[in-house]
Amino acid sequence: MRRILILGGTTEASRLAAALQGQPAILSYAGRTEAPRAQPVPVRIGGFGGAEGLARYLRQEGIGRVIDATHPFAAQISRNAIAACAATGVPLLALQRPEWQPGPGDAWTRVPDIAAAARALPRAPGRVFLAIGRQHLAEFAGLPHHFLLRLVDPPQALPLGRVSVEIARGPFDAAGDTALLRRHGITLVVAKNAGGAGAEAKLAAARALGLPVVMIDRPALPPRAVVGAVDAVLDWLHADLGL
Ligand code: NAP
Repeated sequence: MRRILILGGTTEASRLAAALQGQPAILSYAGRTEAPRAQPVPVRIGGFGGAEGLARYLRQEGIGRVIDATHPFAAQISRNAIAACAATGVPLLALQRPEWQPGPGDAWTRVPDIAAAARALPRAPGRVFLAIGRQHLAEFAGLPHHFLLRLVDPPQALPLGRVSVEIARGPFDAAGDTALLRRHGITLVVAKNAGGAGAEAKLAAARALGLPVVMIDRPALPPRAVVGAVDAVLDWLHADLGL
């Protein structure tokens, strides 16, 4: 039977891997975290070498279906998957969490990308929870704020002068994140519109504390088939492969 490649690095990918235990599935990680979670399906780690490398991998490994369950801000691998699947004729489905929407009590400023988020911060020094991971921090260098980062692994060197780091792996909850923001005296939250329950806690915490949020919109991608839940992926595989 042709194999299923899950492009991972997210909670959704881990959930899908759990649902596909015993099936011919492989979970792929970029290799960004030092110790990825143990998984119930075989795992491969590291880049493929662009869209061409991924296309070669699909052919060599006999991949019959690709599920792109990467983070909504991991745009390069998603573009590569679209191109590689088009080149090889392998069907592609994206598993992606719905975007967060502001509700009553939210004070969001929406910005198109990370550079715009840096420009949207107030001039007066504040204490900013910069919830964008560890890539792209340099965009915020030179700003007068004290930044709080929450990272999975302890960082080597950071391009920010005034910074506190919390080492933690989600999912997080609203009570814990409210306590975190209080403890650090946070005045503003910067977040990527990742969607999903585990990372939403910081938004509930900001709402509870009446804090403004600078929300970074998702990068645009070429058209592709997208579903929002693991069950919908299983339905797609079932219809296609009779799993
Ligand atoms: P990216 O910018 O879209 O991808 C950069 C390169 O990393 C890709 O071209 C590919 O290298 C490699 N890559 C990315 N995801 C891969 C995967 N699942 N398997 C194998 N290679 C992969 O990605 P990113 O934003 O750096 O994210 C990297 C990983 O972290 C992804 O798995 C993503 O789901 C996860 N993640 C990202 C974020 C975020 O905010 N960006 C947040 C949480 C988790 P080649 O071109 O050599 O194939």
